[in-house]
Amino acid sequence: VRLITTVEGFSKELESERSGGRSVGLVPTMGYLHGGHLSLIARARSECDTVAATIFVNPLQFGPGEDLDDYPRDLDSDLLVLGRAGADIAFAPTVREMYPEEPLARVRVEGLSEDLEGRSRPGHLEGVATVVAKLFAMAGRCRAYFGEKDYQQLLLVERLVSDLSFPVEVVRCPTVREPDGLAVSSRNSRLGDGERRTAAALYRALEAGRERVEAGERSPERVREAMVSVLAAEPGAVLDYAEVAGASDLSVPCALGDRELRLLVAATVGPVRLIDNLGVTPPGSAAAARNPGSRARDHTSDEPAARPAGGRKAAP
Ligand code: AMP
Repeated sequence: VRLITTVEGFSKELESERSGGRSVGLVPTMGYLHGGHLSLIARARSECDTVAATIFVNPLQFGPGEDLDDYPRDLDSDLLVLGRAGADIAFAPTVREMYPEEPLARVRVEGLSEDLEGRSRPGHLEGVATVVAKLFAMAGRCRAYFGEKDYQQLLLVERLVSDLSFPVEVVRCPTVREPDGLAVSSRNSRLGDGERRTAAALYRALEAGRERVEAGERSPERVREAMVSVLAAEPGAVLDYAEVAGASDLSVPCALGDRELRLLVAATVGPVRLIDNLGVTPPGSAAAARNPGSRARDHTSDEPAARPAGGRKAAP
């Protein structure tokens, strides 16, 4: 894998790949790579000629008191992992390279930034939108791979691309999970053994919500309660939110039944704030009628892996 640390070098490298007739796949990450990231790289590898991963812990998306300093980092290991995964380029700039001065221009995606993560982490989604816009501006025409694990971020990036006309095709990738359902995340490395077991409650909460919807529950409040009660039974988990929302725009539904939904939870376990989400199609909805197999496929793509999903760092 070719390590690039300058913005100019990165832009030129991708430009030269394209002028050689090669399509570019971009995989933006904050590093400390795991099975979730690897699934994005593998997808990009299968669809693009040149695969570029970016590794940058973006200070703009961390609020005061959040875990910017404690966020796990290991560039040497990430480069080995990327090499083995068949990535061609690793762009790992310093903070100074990305932000030579405090940026005055920032990107805000109205309507997708106020609730959920936006409410709990003021400024976070603006920081995400700003750094993703910068990466797209540097990368140029490409396919960009994002995980459903960060569902609100994914919708926001899709609107960023369509509203600001970036020459980018966003590709959605399903969430990779541990065998007990916990979504794989760099932050999981900071969980102790007991906390790690507690963390699986987020997925159990989502499943409880999904069961209610699939059983025909039409009250968002009762679906919410089903999720909250799973997390409330875990003394080690501090609930932030458990919500049911429209899958296309995260709007708050009055009644469930007519469209695709997304269940979203956030909770703090020990030192770590975790988020997760799950898609669900209400029975009898227009979406279910249009696509009768969709439930089974969603379920499969979000199903916990039979074996650990490319856990952190196999030996080089
Ligand atoms: P991060 O390094 O956490 O900023 O994540 C970089 C990209 O990987 C984002 O598009 C995430 O949504 C995606 N990602 C993180 N965890 C997972 C996972 N468990 N499954 C699929 N994609 C993931």
